[in-house]
Amino acid sequence: MRKQIAAANWKMNLTIDKAESLLDGIVSAGISLSGNHLAVFAVPFPYLQMAQQKISATNYFIAAQNCYSKKSGAYTGETSVEMLQSLHIKYVVLGHSERREYFQESNSFLAEKVNIALEYNITPIFCCGESLSIREAGTQNDFVAKQLQESLFHLSATDIQKIVIAYEPIWAIGTGKTATSEQAQEMHASLRNVLAEKYGKEVAGNISILYGGSVKASNAKEIFSQPDVDGGLVGGASLIVDEFVTIIKSLK
Ligand code: PEP
Repeated sequence: MRKQIAAANWKMNLTIDKAESLLDGIVSAGISLSGNHLAVFAVPFPYLQMAQQKISATNYFIAAQNCYSKKSGAYTGETSVEMLQSLHIKYVVLGHSERREYFQESNSFLAEKVNIALEYNITPIFCCGESLSIREAGTQNDFVAKQLQESLFHLSATDIQKIVIAYEPIWAIGTGKTATSEQAQEMHASLRNVLAEKYGKEVAGNISILYGGSVKASNAKEIFSQPDVDGGLVGGASLIVDEFVTIIKSLK
């Protein structure tokens, strides 16, 4: 059974005090997760250790929001997967549209990051998604398939199953505009099909595909209920205790 994941993406938000009280609030809600249900918190680098200490319940994990493609060395300002591993971090968000847009991260560069994360047993939450102009041109399925092909399809069948994919239409991120649950399902089914063509149905069926883009407490249940949607990657609503608690409880 593939994992159902509520993943928080805090982005570059919160001071340490606010970050601590957000996590305290979520922990005190006492949601126990078991089996294939997971909550993951992608926090800013300076808070990784604090978050790791606060979140110790089963099936709760801390993620980094990025990593560099090299093991170590003279790369001022970068963070290696070796550092993340030394902090016992198990997940890293890669290829978020903000990194693709503001830091020019390409599909081939992301392939290098995916490789090094897997080498250090850190699960990439690999983001993909189209802009509004691509959606309006109707070429979104091919565009997103290409993102997967160029960053992930060099992986073996064993390794591709270690990846979590997050489909995030750029036009729905932080805009309050959510894809309808039908639009999300349609893209997720298309991606699963692309994965199945390359790796077979069984492998494709084991890969979690999260939806991201203005997920909130009021729409999470409906979006997550779609057969190929395995939870969400959540920005704005993950900064509010009650919102994110409800989102975790909306996993199917
Ligand atoms: C995101 O940051 O990945 C995201 C989906 O943001 P939001 O939920 O705010 O749209």
